[in-house]
Amino acid sequence: MEHKKTFSRGASSSARPRTGGASSPRSYGSSRPRTDGASSSRSYSSSRPASSRTYGSRPASSSSARSYSARPASTSSSSAVRPASTASTTTRVYPAKPRPFSARPPLGRSFSASRGGSSRGGGKRGARKGQHIDINKFINKTVITEEAVVYTPEHLFKDFVIDERLKANILGKGYNEPTPIQDRVIAHILHGHDVVGIANTGTGKTAAFLIPLIDKVLKNPKEKVIVLAPTRELAQQIEMELKGFVKGFKIFSVCCVGGAPIGRQISDLRYQHNFIIGTPGRVKDLIERKLINLADFKSAVLDEADRMLDMGFIHDMRYMMDLMPKDRHTLFFSATLSPEIAALIKDFLKEPVMVSVKTQDTSKNVEQDVVKIKAGEDKLEVLHDLLIDPEFKKVIIFGRTKHGVEKLAVALNKKGFKAQSIHGDKNQGQRQRALDTFKKGLAQILVATDVAARGLDISGVSHVINYDIPETYDDYVHRIGRTGRAGQKGKALTFIG
Ligand code: ADP
Ligand code: MG
Repeated sequence: MEHKKTFSRGASSSARPRTGGASSPRSYGSSRPRTDGASSSRSYSSSRPASSRTYGSRPASSSSARSYSARPASTSSSSAVRPASTASTTTRVYPAKPRPFSARPPLGRSFSASRGGSSRGGGKRGARKGQHIDINKFINKTVITEEAVVYTPEHLFKDFVIDERLKANILGKGYNEPTPIQDRVIAHILHGHDVVGIANTGTGKTAAFLIPLIDKVLKNPKEKVIVLAPTRELAQQIEMELKGFVKGFKIFSVCCVGGAPIGRQISDLRYQHNFIIGTPGRVKDLIERKLINLADFKSAVLDEADRMLDMGFIHDMRYMMDLMPKDRHTLFFSATLSPEIAALIKDFLKEPVMVSVKTQDTSKNVEQDVVKIKAGEDKLEVLHDLLIDPEFKKVIIFGRTKHGVEKLAVALNKKGFKAQSIHGDKNQGQRQRALDTFKKGLAQILVATDVAARGLDISGVSHVINYDIPETYDDYVHRIGRTGRAGQKGKALTFIG
């Protein structure tokens, strides 16, 4: 039943004009046409195996099959548009659309939107490093039995004023109903308003910005959009989601991330593209080489911007925003909103509509507990005893340092587990292979630094283990958000002691 996605580019007969003059030879494997006659093909499927997604597998017939648990069904959409605590951003509230299908029964999977983070961004270099975290925050055993409050979206995808072909692709991906954040922001983005969207991890923020932006591009094929994300893997994941939505359209993208060969990105940029999705460092590099001209980009998305800030990308972000047109359309998405980022929002966004669909810090779908390491006990042995339990099917273990993560992965492999590792000391190919192996279920364990904590959508993660305590509570929120995604249940354990 797995819904295979092929991510094909547009019809191979379509001509795709080059944007640059040089005729660069290319040898990638798929079907993006060149106008200079050379038969070039390329495969853009670098990162995420098509099989890694479970939502496509829902039968198309289950039309109202998804319900969400963000809020009582009676809440009007205008109540969702609420101001951030930061005073200086203006909040606009648009009248709620009359709910067309309020009688739809809440069937099927419950999608909790009541997840996410506190109002702080987690990170490596931020001032919050070493903040005191109350251990009790790592324990949440009871909520898992709670009855989810059913979320009834105001809209169905067919209610949105978007291109019919796009609607068909959305349904083709198995997205039958908008998630709460999609329900509440898509109309605002379609109106052209700047938007700050705060929603729990795993609740479909990517599609919330991609769908209206793709519609914009369909209306104006010259429209250019830049999406910035903190990690390479997340940028690649966003591109894969985009490809699912633009199947059959002449909409092209270039993924500009560090660690991947820049030569290929350079030659890709010479071809027509509407979307650039990348990490700040590499995008900046390409701007400096005059391969990207941000003056042409009227729309920008900052995904997980608080993390980019924490990773030290603030100057790059300012530099890029300065190069973009003043009247650009700017969108900002995250599960957490730090005070620092609230200040940036003021600088980067114009009178943004603030939408938050969170009701509590962490997911109701994730059962949380601590594992106390007693004096004289070997942490690795305790971990071993957990991992041999068949319940621990697909486990992400977070460690603090690159070195510690690597060491732990080696130790686990020595103990006979299949463990992969992902951290900043690995090159991009190694990171990608580790992630793919884990996603495909060929390894039980992925040992990771916080590089894998943000945004990554890996289906079926049964457990997140914090082998080392996260530096901030927001890091914790994002780490455990790798499990219990899209309505599934998950467990998070944090080693203390
Ligand atoms: P976030 O950015 O909020 O953490 P993602 O955009 O990564 O979440 O989406 C989480 C998962 O939910 C993805 O696997 C995505 O395919 C799925 N998803 C998103 N929107 C929908 C929808 N409307 N219906 C079903 N599944 C969805
Ligand atoms: Mg995301």
